[in-house]
Amino acid sequence: VVIGGDAGGMSAASQARRRRADLEIVAFERGDYTSYSACGIPYWVGGVVDSRDRLIARTPEVHRERFDIDVRLRHEVEGIDLDKRTVAVGGTNEPFDHLVIATGAVPIRPDLPGIDAEGIYGIQTLNDGEAVRRALDEDRPQRAVVVGGGYIGLEMAEAFVNRGLQVALVDLNPQPMSTLDADMGALVADALEEIGVELHRNERVEGFETRDGRLTAVATSEHTFPADIVVLGLGSRPNSALARDAGIGVGVTGGIRTDLRMRTDAEHVWAAGDCVETFHRISRRAVAFALGTHANKQGRVAGINIGGGYATFRGVVGTAVSKICSVEVARTGLGEQEAERAGFDPVTVSVESSTRAGYFPGAAPITVKMIAERRSGRLLGAQIVGKEGAAKRIDVVATALWNEMTVHEIEGMDLSYAPPFSPVWDPVLIAARKAAEAVEQT
Ligand SMILES: Cc1cc2nc3c(=O)[nH]c(=O)nc-3n(C[C@H](O)[C@H](O)[C@H](O)COP(=O)(O)OP(=O)(O)OC[C@H]3O[C@@H](n4cnc5c(N)ncnc54)[C@H](O)[C@@H]3O)c2cc1C
Repeated sequence: VVIGGDAGGMSAASQARRRRADLEIVAFERGDYTSYSACGIPYWVGGVVDSRDRLIARTPEVHRERFDIDVRLRHEVEGIDLDKRTVAVGGTNEPFDHLVIATGAVPIRPDLPGIDAEGIYGIQTLNDGEAVRRALDEDRPQRAVVVGGGYIGLEMAEAFVNRGLQVALVDLNPQPMSTLDADMGALVADALEEIGVELHRNERVEGFETRDGRLTAVATSEHTFPADIVVLGLGSRPNSALARDAGIGVGVTGGIRTDLRMRTDAEHVWAAGDCVETFHRISRRAVAFALGTHANKQGRVAGINIGGGYATFRGVVGTAVSKICSVEVARTGLGEQEAERAGFDPVTVSVESSTRAGYFPGAAPITVKMIAERRSGRLLGAQIVGKEGAAKRIDVVATALWNEMTVHEIEGMDLSYAPPFSPVWDPVLIAARKAAEAVEQT
């Protein structure tokens, strides 16, 4: 039995099926869709992707017909009984030999006056995306306020601009995108302002004004913004309540604890995706990162193991990319303060370079920040913001980080060069060289 019909759950189900034709697999999904790309929601809302169906990788019919998985939509699992090995769903108890919990995350919804008003949306599932899209098409809102400057909030702000709305973004932090250090976040802020997003930093949302149950304005510590639609971009937390209520171990992050093979501490119960916590290979701490890349891998690992194979998920280094307006934004590892909190003595360098050879048409600025451990030179993290070439350059750095390389080793790496792709010294190599000099200076 699988709870949750998206990345984590359906990866587990299809991998188990590949190895065990005899398994009876039932997947419960409380929403209307399976195997969809929540990551594509801002692009569909903003009109970059023209149809909702393009976000659906596998429909329930495909799961049923091609993989013999009994998908039951609009079925919410309400409880897990570990002793009886059943889940409670739709007034009946469904028995299981193996259970996969892949319930995703819940968007954070602060307990503020007016929060339940019509017109305020969190974005987590395709059903949520559909609700926003319907509101834009039917109610024709003019003014949007995005609360919170995480990457989902920023992608939604851009989507609203694309749809012709006037957009204000309110964030408690000094810069949007607080997963980056503030100096790098400032570059993202510039890109947002360039397309007309009104940014309000260091400002706290205190409540929502309403008329007849409908949103009319957002009240902050400094202003009152008239608003027809609000999107909450305040992050999410693991949706682990079902597991916790059943007595399954949940860690300090609120995510379900698993071992390397995605087994929970309850026999025959597995978990994958945004609902679990995982191990950060650099800080060596438990973290809960809601990312599709992890959900797919973890689901696959659980499914292979359920099917009788052997697979492990060996943690994360905190790699993430997004495109915010005109800039690509990427990070991996620890930021400056995160490195300090993890107990390292970090040295940071920033370099400004070019995405292609300076003379080559289309060459654009790119900023690379690298964080390394003082003296040892061990790479701890990197952040890149640039018009192009930021996103995938981070993967080189993530690979180095995964393998615990030093900036001295990276500096000499054989990275490719031709004028349309980079200057002769790739910006990553320049940053590593500067970092190698800096770690030796003290
Ligand atoms: C707008 C947006 C953009 C994103 N962009 C990126 C990106 O660019 N890159 C990236 O790596 N990640 C991105 N993500 C994150 C990524 O979508 C998630 O990490 C991924 O979907 C997690 O998969 P999951 O299966 O763990 O959870 P989910 O996709 O949330 O699926 C969980 C499913 O479980 C169902 N469910 C929950 N409880 C129950 C229950 N009790 N009974 C039955 N069903 C239940 C839910 O309805 C849901 O369909 C983005 C997310 C959003 C919202």
